[in-house]
Amino acid sequence: MYLFKRKTDLKKHLDLVRKNNKSIGFVPTMGALHQGHLSLIQAAKKETDVVVCSIFVNPTQFNDSKDFEKYPITVDEDIKKLNTVSTDILFLPSVEEMYPDGPNGQQPHYDFGNLENLLEGEFRPGHFQGVGIIVHKLLDIVQPDQLFMGQKDLQQCLIVRQLLHIIQSNTKLVVCPTQREADGLAMSSRNARLSPTARKKAIAIYQALQKIKQNYGKGLLFMEDAHEAFDFLKNEGFDPEYVDILIVENGTIHKLNEPPAESATVVAAIAAWLDGVRLIDNIILQGRI
Ligand code: AMP
Repeated sequence: MYLFKRKTDLKKHLDLVRKNNKSIGFVPTMGALHQGHLSLIQAAKKETDVVVCSIFVNPTQFNDSKDFEKYPITVDEDIKKLNTVSTDILFLPSVEEMYPDGPNGQQPHYDFGNLENLLEGEFRPGHFQGVGIIVHKLLDIVQPDQLFMGQKDLQQCLIVRQLLHIIQSNTKLVVCPTQREADGLAMSSRNARLSPTARKKAIAIYQALQKIKQNYGKGLLFMEDAHEAFDFLKNEGFDPEYVDILIVENGTIHKLNEPPAESATVVAAIAAWLDGVRLIDNIILQGRI
């Protein structure tokens, strides 16, 4: 595996890759890698000739400075894991490399419409602008044929799809399924911060989603299902931010208030705090992303 810390060096290398008519797959991450990340690299290896993974904890997407400071950094372990799936290239830039004028310097602003104000956007103001800024910068450097992202961060996938449209990029976005622990908890770098007791409790998020899925289509009101799941999580000791059943349509999402068309994509999404850790998860109830 090649390791690049400077964007000019990576660009030079990738120019040669392209000259040799090889396709490029890209998996951006913030590190503390787990099987969820590795599954994206495995998908990219199947679809493209040369796979680039980036590890960069992006300061502009953290609305909570404590969350940024506490974000786990495990680069040595990450490199070992990347080698197990034959990653071709790791891009490991510094904050200065990605933000020469500092993270608080002048940045572009993207019009993501209402998508950036709902769900994650409502509880993490500015988060998706930060995601847009860093993904745009990384895309300019890597110029991948295909970009691989996880359904776990569903709204992020929709934001990036809009970004690709806004910047008129030819890169194809591939959304890969959420990888889960044996008990159903969605894999996440943040899981490492849960105490052993909280880790056991954390499966309640998956259980709540499963319950919504079981009831889905059985005639119960969607809002009631969501409220029930919210209360269930509260009783389990969570501090839920949202439990929503949503329709994904024309690149954006809105709350489901009436029975959807058969062709519609419907998802249930949850964000909840447990043990000082913010966890998110979602499942598709019908259709595809
Ligand atoms: P992160 O390092 O959390 O920014 O995630 C980097 C990429 O990995 C994003 O596209 C995430 O959606 C994806 N990802 C994170 N967790 C999972 C998971 N459990 N299954 C599949 N993809 C994931």
